[in-house]
Amino acid sequence: MAYDVLFEPVPIGPVVARNRFFQVPHCNGMGYRDPSAEAAMRGVKAEGGWAVVCTEETEIDPSSDLTPSIELRLWDDRDVPAVARIADRIHEHGALAGIELVHNGPHAANLASRIPPMGPSALPVVGSNHPVQARAMTLADIAALREMHRAAVRRALSAGYDLIYVYAGHGYCLLEHFLSPQHNQRSDSYGGSLRNRARLLREVLTDTRELCAGRAAVACRLGVGGGAEETALSVAETREVVHELRDLPDLWDFVAGPWSADSNTSRFGPEGEHEQAVRGLKSLTDKPVVGVGRFTSPDAMVRQIRAGVLDFIGAARPSIADPFLPAKIRDGRLDEIRECIGCNICVSGDHTQSPIRCTQNPSMGEEWRRGWHPERLRPKGSDTSVLVVGAGPAGLEAAMSLGRRGYRVTVTERSRVLGGRVRREAALPGLAAWLRVADHRAAIIDKLDTVDIYFESTMTASDVLEHGFSHVAVATGSRWRSDGVGRAHPLGLPIDPAAQVLTPDDIMAGSRPRGRRVLVYDDDHYYLGAVLAELLALEGFAVELVTPAPSVSEWTANTMELTKIRRRVIEAGITVTTNRALVSLAPDSVRTACVFTGSELDHPGDAVLLLTARLPVDSLCQDLLARQGEWDQLRSVRAIGDAFAPSTIAAAVWSGREYAETLDALPDPFRREITGLDH
Ligand code: ADP
Ligand code: SF4
Repeated sequence: MAYDVLFEPVPIGPVVARNRFFQVPHCNGMGYRDPSAEAAMRGVKAEGGWAVVCTEETEIDPSSDLTPSIELRLWDDRDVPAVARIADRIHEHGALAGIELVHNGPHAANLASRIPPMGPSALPVVGSNHPVQARAMTLADIAALREMHRAAVRRALSAGYDLIYVYAGHGYCLLEHFLSPQHNQRSDSYGGSLRNRARLLREVLTDTRELCAGRAAVACRLGVGGGAEETALSVAETREVVHELRDLPDLWDFVAGPWSADSNTSRFGPEGEHEQAVRGLKSLTDKPVVGVGRFTSPDAMVRQIRAGVLDFIGAARPSIADPFLPAKIRDGRLDEIRECIGCNICVSGDHTQSPIRCTQNPSMGEEWRRGWHPERLRPKGSDTSVLVVGAGPAGLEAAMSLGRRGYRVTVTERSRVLGGRVRREAALPGLAAWLRVADHRAAIIDKLDTVDIYFESTMTASDVLEHGFSHVAVATGSRWRSDGVGRAHPLGLPIDPAAQVLTPDDIMAGSRPRGRRVLVYDDDHYYLGAVLAELLALEGFAVELVTPAPSVSEWTANTMELTKIRRRVIEAGITVTTNRALVSLAPDSVRTACVFTGSELDHPGDAVLLLTARLPVDSLCQDLLARQGEWDQLRSVRAIGDAFAPSTIAAAVWSGREYAETLDALPDPFRREITGLDH
């Protein structure tokens, strides 16, 4: 009853959404290269109860070519069948299919098409530092742009879409660049006053409306001012544009700031933080409003509706982490919701041009090629019993998934708690939400009568051999190296035995450096180096963060956190030294060398915290394999997760799932979309 309001049907122009759950457009690293995989992924969302399921941005023309990113394309009629397949899969489960048409203007460097980019004014391309400039569009170009958009609308309609987006948000789109006083420096009827800057958006909305003509609804996705980060429009201008254009779209989709702000990570912002930018806009229009906020709590969702902030609960990441979020709320299975942890590993798929993955949902991106489903697994293949050693992300996922398949599973865990590295890391500044990885699995395992967990139970090979299990999954994790071996130093480092060397494991276990000056050496490049530096700085240590990379936490460009991390590190008073690798460690100082010139420098430091490489903790697996002659009922032993190959938490969860999926089954051939040859 409390959540009934979320399940009310809502009309969007000529179509009706069956409830208020709206999967807003999101990138997925599959796009035009993997359309069948994308279709299956979107179809699963529709199956999970979302009323509207949208594609990502879909390029309308080769002059809007985002290469190397892999988005959908509707460049010409030959693209229609792939895009139609996605709508078909969405329709099969009773949802409305939305498509986000885009011309990226000066955001697209057109690396594949080689067409000089175009924008409102002659400026360098944005969002990348390709040495490419956009040319200023003529009035003939503007007319041609309108025709491109019309052609794409016709194709989208022929592909069966119910909702057509006109996209002017996230700092990426041509239409938003026209709105922006910085990027639009024109003096003709498309520049200057806000009315002039909004002219092209008005025209494209009018064109789209005319073509949709009651067959499909029109959505306007607008970047709105008033959030944490700068946008093309100020708060006052946002209100004016919404008021002026209020009758043109059938739905408003408000986005706050650039994509990095709109998809903020949990380390930098809470659930529902967009409200400050979006609140009050709904009263300017009679049309329904959708917005996001990493919503996973049904109470927070209801509040957004009741407070008149939103009509639709928009979600990208919560729908990725749990495609069945609406169904679970509808059925009162709140304890089964797999809550997004706000890590943006999903976003990294787009940035690395690889199929989307998710820390919480290992089936994401595997629906088509491996046949994985977020909620269902095939029944067990035999009556055998499985021992899972270690209850970190890999072990918990394996145990949960095997238990769901119907196997009898015993989990043994050395400590008194579940979660392994996620529990340790969730205690660090900003990472509390990561504990959801363990909490979700613990909640599901609790409901299964197939899985038993034993705490404070360290398994040796002899223990395992005594017990008569058929299969053993060793999920005992990894540990950070203290010998300096890593990317920059495959052979390790000269370390004076009197030098004080710590690893992340030491810090997370509660050890602290003696003395005040700590040098954190980050040759890992993901989040942990900067997080630990932040922790030590908060505790009053004088911290210098040294990395051989050009930036702190360089890989987090892929999770859109790089700028925020750099800001936070500076604000925490941490000294940052880039492009320097360690040479040697002595008791009171650390010697580094410039990665370009080799010139050496001594840094004062009482202790060094090394983030270099990790070693799999796989001795149990090795011992069991060495004693194969003593195996009685035992049929297989495998290391999984970090114990197999140290990687991200997402990779450990995936590994646990892969183990569970393939037990008693032949590995599926790796399915992939094969390029059709042109005739
Ligand atoms: P992953 O990321 O691969 O899941 P973690 O390091 O997060 O790995 O988790 C490993 C878990 O295994 C930890 O909870 C740890 O306490 C536990 N563990 C390690 N060695 C043993 C062992 N020999 N017996 C039982 N549990 C173990
Ligand atoms: Fe959420 Fe992380 Fe999954 Fe993305 S990868 S949906 S941020 S849990």
